[in-house]
Amino acid sequence: MKRESRHFSDGRFNKKYRGDKLLVPQELILKAKEQIGDKAAYTIAEALHLQKFDEKNLKALCPFHTENTPSFVWNPKNYSYHCFGCGRNFGILDLYMQQGYMEQKT
Ligand SMILES: [Zn+2]
Repeated sequence: MKRESRHFSDGRFNKKYRGDKLLVPQELILKAKEQIGDKAAYTIAEALHLQKFDEKNLKALCPFHTENTPSFVWNPKNYSYHCFGCGRNFGILDLYMQQGYMEQKT
């Protein structure tokens, strides 16, 4: 399933989305990210069997495409990850919801 991106593949912002009203205010999203940050990082590390990648990042097999060597890099400090295999970028909330962790009360 391909989701429409707010950015073109070369990184330029897609003007079509300018003026979009977010259902949840940006500051609440940032607050939520801070609150679930450490907990989710721990949960994700357990679920994905994250290994040390370098000083700041952890790596794992990407949960969104099939691969034999880890190209999924998790940055716990920025609460974000990037997969070098399939090119996906997600924030912590995406992954949190993807894994169904939102069912737990935080
Ligand atoms: Zn991937």
